[in-house]
Amino acid sequence: MNKYMQKIFITQKIPEVGIKMLMDKGLEVDVSPKDGILTKDELLESLKSKQYDAVLCLLTNYIDEEVFDACPTAKIFANYAVGYNNIDVSEATKRGITVTNTPGALTDSVAEHTVALLISVALRIVEADKYLREGRFHGWEPIGFLGLDMKGKTVGILGAGRIGFRVGQILKKGFDMNIIYYDVKKNEEFEKELQAKYFESPEELLKVSDVVSVHVPLLDSTKHLINEERLKMMKSTAYLINTSRGPVVDEAALVKALQNKVIAGAGLDVFENEPSLAEGLADLPNIVITPHIASATIPAREGMAVLAAQNIIDFLEGKTPANKVI
Ligand code: NAD
Repeated sequence: MNKYMQKIFITQKIPEVGIKMLMDKGLEVDVSPKDGILTKDELLESLKSKQYDAVLCLLTNYIDEEVFDACPTAKIFANYAVGYNNIDVSEATKRGITVTNTPGALTDSVAEHTVALLISVALRIVEADKYLREGRFHGWEPIGFLGLDMKGKTVGILGAGRIGFRVGQILKKGFDMNIIYYDVKKNEEFEKELQAKYFESPEELLKVSDVVSVHVPLLDSTKHLINEERLKMMKSTAYLINTSRGPVVDEAALVKALQNKVIAGAGLDVFENEPSLAEGLADLPNIVITPHIASATIPAREGMAVLAAQNIIDFLEGKTPANKVI
């Protein structure tokens, strides 16, 4: 008699290491053959094609009631991301479906990318690169391209979790910046290691920060955490960096603030309606933007693949996955 082979669907190609882990366990693994993101209809169609036991999904897949209905046999959705705002967790909870994420593997990569965005915008690297390539450089200029001197400046971290903590470490230990933070919970270790000062409200932090770096998850409570009113509270010389999730910042309000020099500049890896950009955003000289690539290093992406695969393996073996979020 043939042994039943449990089936996994992976919604887009991920690093081989994760796929191999699943196959080595004798699982049947189907990876979407599409070179790109599945549309909702394509995802539903794929999930209906077999009785999958688990789904490894991405932040670009919106996992809701319709998806759960299309694949009632899948009792685990392993998200290949740390944020899981793409999954309707209340619906999953109602149905007893397990959801997992991939925390930690990408912390260093995202933190380093955050600092890269800060350096790029505040030291005007991208703007200057363009100027040079366009043949506009006619010799050393005493007052051209003046940027922010980082040392001694104040960085306000919104969300001192794994990534916010690492950003604080790099900026404190590398640039000798002062670290202040706002979070829904105090982080004593962060305070002790970096002499970080806790602020009880985002408003007070925004008023005194030279750099604001956003690292909160996307929740109802964090949507538009940075809005028009709060942008106006920031120093006109301040920079905003967002590598968390796009909707945490009101992007249209940010465009207006940058156009009117309410703040000095911004570095963004995430956008409110990806892959679209708010009108006018890409025309601004005082921003540096990257297409949601903060975790795009080989160790981070492979580490995420290992975590997601292990979460599925543990679940299918009847254990509680280490990164179960519900
Ligand atoms: P984490 O859970 O370790 O940290 C999040 C912190 O935010 C926690 O300390 C939490 O207490 C705090 N927080 C939650 N709600 C808050 C609120 N309303 N106000 C203030 N603070 C609040 O998560 P992490 O691993 O540091 O990741 C942070 C976020 O970064 C993820 O949720 C994800 O959306 C985003 N992310 C983006 C990329 C990317 O490619 N750009 C990659 C990884 C993670």
